[in-house]
Amino acid sequence: MRIPVIAGNWKMYKTPSEAIILAEGIVKALSSLDGPELVVCPPFTALAAVGQVVAGSRIGLGAQDLHWAREGAYTGEVSADMLQDIGCRYAIIGHSERRQYFGETDEGVNKKSRAALAGDLTPIVCVGETLTEREAGRADAVVEIQLKGALSGLAPEQVQRLIFAYEPVWAIGTGKTATPSQAEEMHAHIRKTIAMLVDAETACGVRILYGGSVKPENATELLERSEIDGALIGGASLQVDSFAAIAKAAQNTGFRV
Ligand code: PEP
Repeated sequence: MRIPVIAGNWKMYKTPSEAIILAEGIVKALSSLDGPELVVCPPFTALAAVGQVVAGSRIGLGAQDLHWAREGAYTGEVSADMLQDIGCRYAIIGHSERRQYFGETDEGVNKKSRAALAGDLTPIVCVGETLTEREAGRADAVVEIQLKGALSGLAPEQVQRLIFAYEPVWAIGTGKTATPSQAEEMHAHIRKTIAMLVDAETACGVRILYGGSVKPENATELLERSEIDGALIGGASLQVDSFAAIAKAAQNTGFRV
């Protein structure tokens, strides 16, 4: 059974004091919600403070990135052990903004995924094509290459522990959403590719989230598609009401078997 995941990527928004207020609102709004796994991913500086707010609630804590080494002379970086120690249980890896602005590569995504798993964090591995790639008919091939790089050398037991997020770059922060059919087609392609690279059982069990301008108004039509196992949400995760409304939509659309 695939339990849906609703994860908020707060990006570079919210000071620690603002983040505490948002997290308190989310805990209050969603602590009695059954069903979806809920995650918030504040910036590094707010992780510890938000960790204290969500401790003991059903809201999980995630980081937006991590370094692949356990420790070392890597100025400005943060390791899986450091994140684990302050209560993190998830880490977003390979977000398109990191690929686009900070030189994240598929090889880096692979190393970071291994580090996250070794540190007992659940990686949320992001893949997705640009508009130019989609218009050139290369979307499937691009995502396939990203998956091949991300999963290189991982054992099926490791891949089972990953969450994937399909985030078409042209839909992130633009207000443009992939149609439910476009998203579902790509999710099916991702699952097929994982089956080819790993095995069918692993592919059937992993959760694949959709991300790209998900809002309360479009959440239900996306989440009710059987291939879509939840959402990674940017802008709409910065307000209690919109994040809570999307989480409730996931509860109503049920689990996948
Ligand atoms: C994201 O940051 O992963 C994202 C999907 O952003 P938005 O929801 O704002 O498009």
